[in-house]
Amino acid sequence: MDVRSMTKRELSEYIEANRDAPDPALLSEAAGLRDEYYGRRIFVRGLIEFTNCCRNNCLYCGIRSANRGINRYRLTKEEILECVKEGRRLGLGTFVLQGGEDAHYTDDVLCGIIRSIKEYAPDCAVTLSVGERSYESYKRLKDAGADRYLLRHETADKAHYGLLHPKEMLFGNRVRCLYDLRSLGYQVGAGFMVGSPYQTSETLAEDLLFLKRLEPHMVGIGPFIPQAATPFGDKRGGTLGLTLTMLALTRLMLPRTLIPATTALGTIDSRGREKGFGAGANVVMPNLSPRERRGDYALYDNKLCTGAEAAESIDQLRALIEDAGYTMDTGRGDSLVEAVRSDRKGKDKVYEYKQ
Ligand code: SAM
Repeated sequence: MDVRSMTKRELSEYIEANRDAPDPALLSEAAGLRDEYYGRRIFVRGLIEFTNCCRNNCLYCGIRSANRGINRYRLTKEEILECVKEGRRLGLGTFVLQGGEDAHYTDDVLCGIIRSIKEYAPDCAVTLSVGERSYESYKRLKDAGADRYLLRHETADKAHYGLLHPKEMLFGNRVRCLYDLRSLGYQVGAGFMVGSPYQTSETLAEDLLFLKRLEPHMVGIGPFIPQAATPFGDKRGGTLGLTLTMLALTRLMLPRTLIPATTALGTIDSRGREKGFGAGANVVMPNLSPRERRGDYALYDNKLCTGAEAAESIDQLRALIEDAGYTMDTGRGDSLVEAVRSDRKGKDKVYEYKQ
């Protein structure tokens, strides 16, 4: 299927027709394309959820600032380094530092953490996922040694973005961040939730077209899962079928991108990760955070953090990957999409971006 030449209308009609059950031909084409570009390797990243404090109040997210029902925590540099050491012992070559937008982690603090990780493991890749910051801040973090940055765009439809976020969070700033990160030479990950409230086949088609324009190095796609203490606690969650359709369409749109089979996908279906591989995904991110903290990083209800989702159970993850017909790759696993530093702020691109 020639997804790259499809119009928004064609994409949205296709999505609408395949909402419940993905077309097996689409899945096998997407998996075949992944094999052609990356082989049958599944890359493993160690995920360190280092703070659940967040200044934002996203309507879908369990660590939103208004949620008084969770224990807030922050990991020190030493605690983060302990997680990295454990990851090295397991042979991991990429560490993903994810957290809420937490003012405690100033540029100085984050740069110190990045430098210590790089001193300890110079050959590893450090991925950050700490939300919206200024161009200057992203530049400092890059210069300190950060290699990659994950910042899901969440939805490429401005009006839909406004329904998922409080009014002080602006879609234009999210897009500005993504283009700034690209221009600074980061390997950049965008992405969105499937089945978020008010999402339609049209907004999903817009997501695909947005990704085509941005050409990110990674795309994170997982089902929306309600979290009881949020305003969306009683909304319906995203389905397995539609998530697989969107994973496969994204693989066809961006054959050279890295696509994780997310924890959220593993949470809604016990074989979700394997089904994700079957739709063209090729990354998993088991949890390296201190075990006693994992329950507090509660983005959504029943979030998996044990079994193959826990880095210390890497043998279980290897078995899952091999049983599904793939090999596990714990190396850096860089994206095939080139990271190009242009030293030109991405701001201009935002104006080019048409809604
Ligand atoms: N603060 C950083 C940011 O904004 O990118 C990283 C942390 S944020 C919690 C990571 C991702 O979790 C978000 O991009 C969002 O897509 C996902 N997420 C949050 N709440 C979710 C939910 N209820 N269901 C599924 N995914 C969710």
